[in-house]
Amino acid sequence: MAQSEYEKNTSYTMQEAINEAKRCLRCKVPACQKGCPINNDIPDFIYQLSKGNLGEAREILAKKTNLPAVCGRVCPHEKQCVGHCVLNAKGNPIQVGGLEQFIADFDAEMGLIKENIAQKTRGKVAVIGSGPAGLTVAGDLAREGFNVIIYENESEPGGVLLYGIPEFRLPKAVVRREIKKIEALGVTFLTNVTVGKDLTIDDMFSQNFDAIFIGTGTALARDLEIEGREKSGVIQSTYFLRMIALYNAGSVDEDEVPVSKEDKVVIVGAGNVAMDAARTALRYGASSVTIVYRKGLEDMPALKTEYKSALDEGVEFIWYADPVEFTGDHTVKGLKFKKDGEIKEIEADVIMLAVGSRPASRIVSTTTGIGVNDSGYVITKDKPYGMTTRKGVFAGGDVVHKPATVVLAMKEAKKVAEGIASYVDAIKLLEL
Ligand code: FAD
Repeated sequence: MAQSEYEKNTSYTMQEAINEAKRCLRCKVPACQKGCPINNDIPDFIYQLSKGNLGEAREILAKKTNLPAVCGRVCPHEKQCVGHCVLNAKGNPIQVGGLEQFIADFDAEMGLIKENIAQKTRGKVAVIGSGPAGLTVAGDLAREGFNVIIYENESEPGGVLLYGIPEFRLPKAVVRREIKKIEALGVTFLTNVTVGKDLTIDDMFSQNFDAIFIGTGTALARDLEIEGREKSGVIQSTYFLRMIALYNAGSVDEDEVPVSKEDKVVIVGAGNVAMDAARTALRYGASSVTIVYRKGLEDMPALKTEYKSALDEGVEFIWYADPVEFTGDHTVKGLKFKKDGEIKEIEADVIMLAVGSRPASRIVSTTTGIGVNDSGYVITKDKPYGMTTRKGVFAGGDVVHKPATVVLAMKEAKKVAEGIASYVDAIKLLEL
């Protein structure tokens, strides 16, 4: 399978990384940094790298991100740092993501920085969910002297990083490595615990937590309620990606993966999840993968690089096609759709839906006082930043701001971590 341009750009040798870093113009007003949602000091880390000072480069990154090896690989760089680089004018922007990844990977091998572990004396915080939002809050608060316990529903931490984004874009070993670093800060992980089922927010407060952070993402995949929805073989893309991740980890057998080799796969929706599911299905051995989207190429929510990779790898696209029926008897045999005023049909052994997601209500429905909007997103305030309508309960990431990106979840989570710290400090002062 052909590697995409993006994948090629992400594994530099030391010499290549230094050469790439040396091309940086160190602009007085660095547009790349403005383009980075977490305001990474990009020119400085690249400058240090260009001098071969990898430890300094790593220190600079660590000031803003707990997950550089992840961001280096999966951030939408074309819209952020790379997209803002002035060298775009010459068609050859600095590959900031590749350089960030290089430093993070080198650090993982060589142990460039040793963090001081803070005494956990400032308070006790529960974090629900271990995706980018939960990991960021946990890492930042642990560094600031809080005792943090993460509660995670799955058997392993990582959220979408582990169970959504496919291995070929984000190796699970990289995610596990980043999580180990957060654990090394003194964060405790409790897995296989579903808050709202195994214990509630009220149970947590009775365990003397000073604050609780909800970073549970958008676990409920949106459905497509058209005729034939009940047929077997119509599944959610996120379910397929999760089962593939579990299969690759050796946790489930091949017969539990909901796609078989040589299957004809149709995917409804054209966002990044659809692209990931399509490219994963092809790698798994599907004989064909076709994405059906009700709008056109220009409206597609997926990143252009992801679309291009999917196209290069053989994914087919049908634009302006409005699904009307899943056909077949008990098992799906195809998808009928309306295009140019006519009803057409495409054959399928499996049809995957990739039409969005929203938060589950498990936590908010098993306690009181946490307000959500009409779509189920948790409502938060600006002071203290990220606090919900219930005192001491905070929220951040996709569960508040809708499905977005890893770095946007991290950006918000960093601000919420500050909100939690100031809130806990204030209540401790009042207790004196
Ligand atoms: P999540 O990552 O969803 O983490 C939530 C965690 O909470 C999960 O571990 C979940 O198991 C846990 N949880 C939920 N409910 C409970 C409960 N009741 N009790 C205990 N634990 C619970 N973004 C990018 O920037 N680049 C990409 O390339 C990219 N690709 C993507 C591909 C896919 C297939 C998907 C689905 C998303 C992708 N995204 C990408 C989006 C990005 O992954 C999300 O925006 C980000 O993970 C959100 O982080 P989060 O921490 O808010 O939530």
